[in-house]
Amino acid sequence: MISSPSKTVSVIAIDGPAASGKSTVGELLAKKMGYLYFDTGVMYRVVTAAAIARALPIPDEAAITQLAEKILIDISPPDQNDGRQYTVRADHRDVTWEIRERKVDANVSTVSAYRGVREAMRAQQRRVGERGRVVMVGRDIGTVVFPDADLKIYLDASEAERARRRHLERWARGEKVEFESVLDEIRRRDEIDSTRSVAPLKKADDAVLVDSTGLTVEQVLERVWQVVEGHAR
Ligand code: C5P
Repeated sequence: MISSPSKTVSVIAIDGPAASGKSTVGELLAKKMGYLYFDTGVMYRVVTAAAIARALPIPDEAAITQLAEKILIDISPPDQNDGRQYTVRADHRDVTWEIRERKVDANVSTVSAYRGVREAMRAQQRRVGERGRVVMVGRDIGTVVFPDADLKIYLDASEAERARRRHLERWARGEKVEFESVLDEIRRRDEIDSTRSVAPLKKADDAVLVDSTGLTVEQVLERVWQVVEGHAR
C-alpha cells in the first residue's frame, strides 16, 4: 500500500556514515511513499570499479576525473532475482555486484574525494532530484547536493553496530571476512569521507538525527516516518 504524508515533499535527503542503514531505510521509505529511491553511493562505486577494471592507478586524479565525466551510469529496477535492490550498469555492462567488492570498498573514498569526480556526479544527481518525489541517500545530499531539500535526515549508529551489520551482510554473500577487517575498513572510509576538503560527510544543521543503534529496521523506519509526518503537519 502506498501512503503519503498530507503535504508533498519533493526531496528527502538521508545522509550518514557507512553501513548506518541508509540504503535499507531509504528504499523502504521510498516504497512507502511511492517515491523514487536513489542511492548516490552507487555512482562513486561505479567510477571506482571502472577505474579498477581499466587498471587506472587510483592516485591518478586526472585520469579518474576524465573517466567519471564520460562513464554512462544506469540504475534501473532489478532485472534479476538475486537479492539486488536495483541493477547497475556502467557503459551498458552489469556491475551490480562488482561495485560491492572489497577492492571497491577499499578505494571508493579516495575516488570520491576528487573534486572533478564529485562535480560530475553531483550534476547527474541534481538532474534526478529536480524531477521531485525522490528519497536520495548519500553523504552530502543535505549539505551540498540539495541544501534546500524539503526534509533532511542524518542516520547514524555506533561504529561496532555498523561493522556488525556489514560483517553479517558479507557472510550472507559467502565472503568469510574477519569482523576486525570490516571494522577497520568502515573506520578508514568514514575518516576519509568526513575529513576531505570537498563536500565532507557531516550532519546538515537542519537535519534530524536518527540513531539506529540497537533498533530493528522496522523501528528505524517508524522513527523516520514520524519525522516525515511531523514535517508534513
Ligand atoms: O553509501 P556507500 O557506502 O555505498 O558509499 C560509498 C562511498 O561513496 C562512500 O564511502 C563515500 O566515499 C562515497 N559517497 C560520497 N558521497 C555520497 C555518497 C557516497 O562521497 N553522496
